[in-house]
Amino acid sequence: MSPLPIREIGDPVLREVAEPVSLEELGRPETQELIEAMIETMREANGAGLAAPQVGVAKRIAVIEVRPGNPRYPYKPPVPLTVLVNPELEPLGAETYLSNEGCLSIPNLRGELERAAEVRARYLDRDGEVKDEIRRGLTAGTFQHEVDHLDGVLLVDRADPATFSTWEQFERFGKAEFVARATELTARLGA
Ligand code: ZN
Repeated sequence: MSPLPIREIGDPVLREVAEPVSLEELGRPETQELIEAMIETMREANGAGLAAPQVGVAKRIAVIEVRPGNPRYPYKPPVPLTVLVNPELEPLGAETYLSNEGCLSIPNLRGELERAAEVRARYLDRDGEVKDEIRRGLTAGTFQHEVDHLDGVLLVDRADPATFSTWEQFERFGKAEFVARATELTARLGA
């Protein structure tokens, strides 16, 4: 299996509301192969997550993984490989934090947006097992980013355009302050 091409902003599939996946469909070999290909695509691109619309499939499937030392996101706490099928997120409490995010479908752009600091995530894993967990801080933000993709929402819709920057300018002007905030958030809330 090889990585799939990543769809970029302007491709209409990124604006579709993705369809739920039935248990029968989840069990099919082609769906399991799609999940494998998504994992491989995310890893090759050093993403923290990838949603099926980003590889041209409008289905409610996303994968998330942050391995220690991820070069795109060195400040994110590690997250084991997680496959989300039909995920539903519920913010817990009113706390939000100012996130700074990039997206594999929006090359060389970052922006700042508010994310819920804590969410309850309910989803099926790739075997159809029901999962119900709480995610916090930057990891909660990653979950929200991926579920946004399944609703056709991109970070440019939520971010203040005045905060947009290229990755290089984020490194120069924004990173130190954001990493300090992110480190505090991770220390306080965990992942
Ligand atoms: Zn994205």
